[in-house]
Amino acid sequence: MKIENYIRDIQGFPKEGILFKDITPLLNDPIARKKCLSILVESLNGQKIDKVVGAESRGFFFGILLAQELNAGFVPVRKPKKLPYEIISASYELEYGLDSLEIHTDAIKKGDRVLIHDDVLATGGTAKAVCELVEKLGGEIVQCNFLMELTFLNGREKIKNNPIFAAITY
Ligand code: IMP
Repeated sequence: MKIENYIRDIQGFPKEGILFKDITPLLNDPIARKKCLSILVESLNGQKIDKVVGAESRGFFFGILLAQELNAGFVPVRKPKKLPYEIISASYELEYGLDSLEIHTDAIKKGDRVLIHDDVLATGGTAKAVCELVEKLGGEIVQCNFLMELTFLNGREKIKNNPIFAAITY
């Protein structure tokens, strides 16, 4: 059974010219989901993780499963004005202009061993902003992992100081 078969290509979503990788078939199948989770967990080779940080919003799905499996805390990184407590933010480039991501200041303690997770590594802007937030709070990034890496967009260049793993590469 190949987890690749549970990723659906949607041409022209959310706008023309984009080939969107849809993970909902993977989420909808318990066996494929479990296989994908074990691929991500095995890539850590038993390294201890204190916190899994997931990026809004598709990073939450496997982020929470990873946290449960690794017996770690789960920390959501969210779009602006969603988190209720004290936050810090990091901005990143979009195709046009800037956006930002936020994290609760008490979510990571200095020296925490952190796994960063998102569904897709594309240009790397999102992952870089998440890395910045974790570093600002004093977390040690053990790995950035993704369900998929779109290698032709060279996103890993932006986060090259960290170990990177993707369950599927295109
Ligand atoms: P980046 O910041 O350009 O690396 O884009 C990564 C972010 O965009 C991730 O949070 C993804 O959820 C989202 N993303 C980019 N391309 C896709 C896709 O084809 N399918 C699903 N999400 C995507």
